[in-house]
Amino acid sequence: MFKALVLDQVEGETMADIKQLDESVLPDGEVLIDVTYSSLNYKDGLAVTGKGPIISKFPAIPGIDLVGQVVSSEDVRFVPGMQVIVTGWGVGERHWGGMAARARMKADWIVPLPDGMTAQTAMAIGTAGLTAMLCVLALEEAGVKPEQGPVLVTGASGGVGSVAIALLAKQGFEVVAATGRVEEEPYLRKLGAQAIRPRDEMSAACRPLEKQRWAGVVDTVGGVVLSRALAETNYGGAVAACGLAGSADLPTTVMPFILRNVRLQGVDSVSCPTARRTDAWARLQRELDPQLFDDLVQEISLEQVPEYAQRIVSGAVRGRTIVKIGG
Ligand code: NAP
Repeated sequence: MFKALVLDQVEGETMADIKQLDESVLPDGEVLIDVTYSSLNYKDGLAVTGKGPIISKFPAIPGIDLVGQVVSSEDVRFVPGMQVIVTGWGVGERHWGGMAARARMKADWIVPLPDGMTAQTAMAIGTAGLTAMLCVLALEEAGVKPEQGPVLVTGASGGVGSVAIALLAKQGFEVVAATGRVEEEPYLRKLGAQAIRPRDEMSAACRPLEKQRWAGVVDTVGGVVLSRALAETNYGGAVAACGLAGSADLPTTVMPFILRNVRLQGVDSVSCPTARRTDAWARLQRELDPQLFDDLVQEISLEQVPEYAQRIVSGAVRGRTIVKIGG
């Protein structure tokens, strides 16, 4: 038997309870894992509170991220005792996820924990950190360089935003953090932001083209914030869009694209190919200063997940939240 956070629906409401389950109920997969940590992402918040259609079939175990130790494997790439990470691929959505002491996963979804990275650090990074790294790669591939001017990160105090600031600052970019929580300025500056842009300035109505300010943008918010980011991006600059914390809409015009040669690059971490994922994890291991995590991370128990899920969907969680499961 193992402990799990189980989501079920009662009269259309999502209920979350801690239960003891038998291993025989786990879904199919080649690799059985003892989970040590999971993490709480915005998407997990939507799943656990039922505020977003994340879970495809109930009952379900949430948790889009997990790290743990291989117990048994039918795939030669993984052997008992190996430390592994799983993020994305519909885990915690269509396939039971990381918020349980045991998980069974498809071998193709698994990446080894990079040498020298702890389980806590892996989950402090999690899907949010991986997505931040993929956004930074998108800006690099678009040719955005520190000497071209400042870069903007929206939803700055959130998981993706916080890691994006740290990564971009480490590469020598002048980072401006757009946030609705100006009281988080000391935290954002410690991560590497050099200036703060209040969220209400970003969400004010904007013209198709505004004063050019940014060589690049990492946007986690969508909606009017993304429209303004596009309207303020420099000629030839790029915007990496990965989120919808504000809105799934995009009320923009073609002007930034056809008059300023701006590139809008979508970023997905869920189905990101394994080779790119493994490279991104290796870069996260090299480029994120472990000291940073002291400020960035809070650790909670499985029992605290429902409370923190409410907080993350109301935009009240700062940085990254890791969930201690076992080990
Ligand atoms: P998070 O920790 O909850 O951070 C989201 C941040 O967005 C908040 O901290 C807040 O930052 C800002 N925000 C919240 N509500 C807002 C609103 N109504 N208007 C404007 N800003 C708002 O979430 P996360 O894990 O960083 O994820 C951020 C977004 O990226 C989510 O939409 C998530 O679904 C998406 N995401 C996508 C992928 C992918 O593969 N494409 C992967 C991971 C996450 P401030 O308080 O600093 O303003």
